[in-house]
Amino acid sequence: MLGILRDLRGITATPGRGCTRLAYTHFEDQAHDLVWSRLRTISGLVREDDAAGNTFIVPTSALGARKPILLIGSHLDTVIEGGWLDGALGVAAGVSVLERRACDGRADPHVGLVIFRDEEGVRFNTGLFGSTVFAGGCLPSDLEAKAPDGVRVRDVVPDPDGCCEYQPPVHPAAFLECHIEQGERLVATESEVGVVSSIVGIRRVEIVGVGMANHAGTTDMRRRVDALVPVAHVVARCPTLVDGLDDAVITCGRLQVNPGAPNIVPGRVTAIVEFRAQHDATLDTIEGRLRSLVSGVTPAVSGGRCAEIGLGPIVTVAPTPTSDTLNTLLSKILESRGVPFLYLASMAGHDTQLAARRCRASMFFIPSIDGVSHNPDEDSREADIELAGDLMLAWAERCVRECL
Ligand SMILES: [Zn+2]
Repeated sequence: MLGILRDLRGITATPGRGCTRLAYTHFEDQAHDLVWSRLRTISGLVREDDAAGNTFIVPTSALGARKPILLIGSHLDTVIEGGWLDGALGVAAGVSVLERRACDGRADPHVGLVIFRDEEGVRFNTGLFGSTVFAGGCLPSDLEAKAPDGVRVRDVVPDPDGCCEYQPPVHPAAFLECHIEQGERLVATESEVGVVSSIVGIRRVEIVGVGMANHAGTTDMRRRVDALVPVAHVVARCPTLVDGLDDAVITCGRLQVNPGAPNIVPGRVTAIVEFRAQHDATLDTIEGRLRSLVSGVTPAVSGGRCAEIGLGPIVTVAPTPTSDTLNTLLSKILESRGVPFLYLASMAGHDTQLAARRCRASMFFIPSIDGVSHNPDEDSREADIELAGDLMLAWAERCVRECL
């Protein structure tokens, strides 16, 4: 585990400042190649990249969906100046399973590795892109997403049409992932492992205020139509919208004020509000509260005429329960080894939630030191990293026996 993780850590656009491997860059390619260069020595394994550039390293007998196999994997792209374990841990665990299951240099015909592209979504603002394609294909509009330099997703994927009309190169019976927790719940409960029972649902809405840009000095307070004031009113109350709702969170992480000058009354303002919860009903409640807050805001704002304010959807990701069957197999292993563990819901999105549309899927977490992630200081104890590899092997062996 540690050897390949350290090798992957060396592949970065920002040496000395964490890992930077943005999707579909030379750095991400190099990381995929490094994994293959390590596994190609096992006879009977073949590398096949799909339409999205997801890398499958699988037994030859599984190609063309002939025999169902167990897939283990995660992603190797990172955020800018991110950590060395996010994504890489799950890939390293898959590598370790393939190596340890090989017998006399020959691959186990039941297990393969998948490395998804563009999980983080930093470059094109498209998170979980590779696993979305794997789940059943992306929308044609997803291919038009643009990076700040004008490059589109369709310019970098190997086969844009194949990303929409997708056929996976293998037939997966189940998908397993492990990941760092990126939080502090495991440490707080003295657990060594978190069995992920579900993955959070996410909704993002755009709040738009439309007023009239005008001179900040000469437009008196009664005449002005300030687009920011009502939007700010809503944003300030967002935290109260999740009151009494277990585990739900709400964030306004983007606010755009136009024209955006200190001496101009804001003419147009957009705020993106994102909320997350484990159940659709909770997301519905939050959305309902937000809608009534927005529709009630106009009379509440005094001091001049009020801007128009509206709400539109942008992104909806459904909450995803993981496979009970897979979770039970894992919890039995943990119980028999006396490893303290916790069932928990993931508040971050992961490739597992998309893989779950194609086959049984689940994942587990190991603790993150101080809960730090997406940061060069991201780390986990070496013993926990090794435990992740051992558990993945045991889990994979149980799955091969009981799920294939
Ligand atoms: Zn990740």
